[in-house]
Amino acid sequence: MPHMKSKFDICIIGAGMAGATIAAYLAPKGIKIALIDQCFKEKKRIVGELLQPGAVLSLEQMGLLDLLKGFDAQAVDGYALIQGEQKTTIPYPNHYTGMGLHNGQFLQQIRASALANDSVTKIHGKALQLLENDRQEIIGVSYREELSSEIKTIHAPLTITSDGFFSNFREDLSNNEKTVTSYFIGLILNDCDMPFPRHGHVFLSGPTPFICYPISSHEVRLLIDFPGELLPRKALLQAHLDANVTPYIPEGMRSSYDLAIKTGGFKVMPNHYMAANPIIRKGAVMLGDALNMRHPLTGGGLTAVFSDIQILSAHLLAMPDFYNTDLIHKKIEAYYRDRQNANANLNILANALYGVMSNELLKTAVFKYLQCGGNNSLESIAILAGLNKNHYSLIKQFANLALFGAYDLVRQSITRLPQAAKILFDAFCIIKPLAKNELSLSAVINDYFKK
Ligand SMILES: Cc1cc2nc3c(=O)[nH]c(=O)nc-3n(C[C@H](O)[C@H](O)[C@H](O)COP(=O)(O)OP(=O)(O)OC[C@H]3O[C@@H](n4cnc5c(N)ncnc54)[C@H](O)[C@@H]3O)c2cc1C
Repeated sequence: MPHMKSKFDICIIGAGMAGATIAAYLAPKGIKIALIDQCFKEKKRIVGELLQPGAVLSLEQMGLLDLLKGFDAQAVDGYALIQGEQKTTIPYPNHYTGMGLHNGQFLQQIRASALANDSVTKIHGKALQLLENDRQEIIGVSYREELSSEIKTIHAPLTITSDGFFSNFREDLSNNEKTVTSYFIGLILNDCDMPFPRHGHVFLSGPTPFICYPISSHEVRLLIDFPGELLPRKALLQAHLDANVTPYIPEGMRSSYDLAIKTGGFKVMPNHYMAANPIIRKGAVMLGDALNMRHPLTGGGLTAVFSDIQILSAHLLAMPDFYNTDLIHKKIEAYYRDRQNANANLNILANALYGVMSNELLKTAVFKYLQCGGNNSLESIAILAGLNKNHYSLIKQFANLALFGAYDLVRQSITRLPQAAKILFDAFCIIKPLAKNELSLSAVINDYFKK
């Protein structure tokens, strides 16, 4: 069905990490874009500050690697795990690097790069409602313009909704079920010594994990997990820090940590899990957190977002133009199908690892398992880095971990057999719902033969 020629090929709702990046990638290719956001100012956020190597690789493949330069972003070579007095490091495979950075500064660079193209029109306003024609196809969006407060409309053959995790348009375009797994409390530690420079750190010493990584040459981001669905109240939060975090902060970070706590500059964010469950409608497609979210423990969000951008863009760029709405519809279907496979490992690993690290027996097992080094730790870190998308690898590593944990307990004493059985049961309970949401059996079998 040909579409009436409109001023724009694509209308993008939300110039956040997803919307601004796809605009920056497609605009130089001559695609006419309306980029709408309610706030173009730099934000101070605790999200999206560690780019796994998979995300860095995607930027490189899109020709956007320069956007990481000029604002003191820090290279990250791998992970360090710390449990009590025990420490182990796992490098990223093949000398790939991740990056730690200020998300707000990075986003401003991406936005500037997108808006530097004549083919991008910046629209400052709040998107209100998707516009439909009489065949219920989406033909654009209405918005309240920031400056005039007037309600205006934009028409385009394709609308991308990338308005983040509180998306207003999710219910028009998906059957997604969102759950809050826990909260992250974010602090910035100034001028401190992490146990392993140029590493992401996972601290497993307390009952819930906390993580840290460099975000500039003199700042370290500390993210502390607060389990449960309810926003932590101030008193509870303080009690959590006192009992479960403060005693386990390493010496070299202690004074910066105490100062950060004293000045109270922490931010709290909910951690969601939401499997992608799109309703495929003509004229619109979802991208980023609006479509799919996973626990941020593994820093996999932007790896998934950039991979989605590559997949969607490849399908859109294969079209001769944006006039054939039937063809656009086919491309949207192909994108949803392809992205499911590409992101399943990241989505499963993030929430499975969170489950593992919140379980005393499995937490000890994962530490020892990775400490053994060799192929198991290499394959596991490649999945976390977003470099290994093979589903069979993921299932194999998870099963190996559970078996290793059970065997290790029985090896210590046969009286620990019930705990060994519990480890296997708990591991199964963690992986089963995630695998059901994210994987098909045929995809795992296919990947087994690809190995
Ligand atoms: C605590 C936490 C830590 C995280 N840490 C990491 C990490 O270290 N590494 C990683 O890779 N991922 C991380 N993530 C995930 C990552 O940050 C997200 O996946 C990513 O930011 C999603 O990008 P987005 O564009 O979908 O959303 P956003 O970047 O939030 O962008 C949404 C945009 O839409 C705009 N908008 C919203 N509503 C409207 C409207 N009605 N009209 C106009 N504009 C609108 C907003 O102003 C915003 O600019 C983390 C997530 C959390 C919660």
